[in-house]
Amino acid sequence: MTINIILLGPPGAGKGTQARRLVEERGLVQLSTGDMLRAARSSGTEMGQRVAEVMDRGQLVTDEIVIGLIREQLAKGGNGFIFDGFPRTLAQADALGDLLADTGMSLDAVIEMQVDDEALVRRITGRFTCGNCGEVYHDETKPTAQAGVCDVCGSTDLKRRADDNEDSLKTRLLEYYKKTSPLIGYYYAKDKLAQVDGLAPMDQVGADIAGALEA
Ligand code: ADP
Ligand code: AMP
Repeated sequence: MTINIILLGPPGAGKGTQARRLVEERGLVQLSTGDMLRAARSSGTEMGQRVAEVMDRGQLVTDEIVIGLIREQLAKGGNGFIFDGFPRTLAQADALGDLLADTGMSLDAVIEMQVDDEALVRRITGRFTCGNCGEVYHDETKPTAQAGVCDVCGSTDLKRRADDNEDSLKTRLLEYYKKTSPLIGYYYAKDKLAQVDGLAPMDQVGADIAGALEA
């Protein structure tokens, strides 16, 4: 079954972790605007350079840039998308609705991952990822089996994000509450919203998302 879903939640809620599971289990395509922007930065494109400082401060980049990135990806087609970290503003949400309609697609569900702010600090300060395959780890809740080696692909290129520090997280949280949290009401009113407890263990969150998608 083809579905298009949004994973909505503050930084560190577990969106990327669950998106990767959904890719594996359902063959959906993960569209993470954060990953796209980081890729633009590391390949040194003009846009990547322009957004670098904004990202490091923890602020949102312009709607125009991220909507453009999503438009490009949707134009390539695919069999069901997981929007991870997009939309983050009401303007982005409206634009996504239009883009999906233009390509004959619709939005099936928005999963809000609920996590309290204290847990987010621990999530963000313990996060590291594999630079090769993108697997997401955590110092305490999901360490690698062998120190310094990715469980999935064996790479030793394990990285921490420049913006994963307490200072930047404060700004990112403020941005979330000011600009992104209104999307909860927006999608509730559109009858798309489902909520899961993002504080549960990863497998349980995965099962709860599956349950919400069945419903
Ligand atoms: P987001 O994409 O929402 O920013 P991530 O998926 O990168 O969040 O998760 C943030 C951190 O929390 C990562 O280090 C990840 O391993 C860890 N994590 C994700 N889900 C859980 C969970 N259910 N329980 C404990 N730790 C988790
Ligand atoms: P993320 O990987 O989702 O945590 O995003 C990392 C950073 O990229 C954010 O703090 C923003 O600076 C930027 N970013 C990612 N997605 C968006 C978006 N949809 N709108 C605006 N900025 C974004």
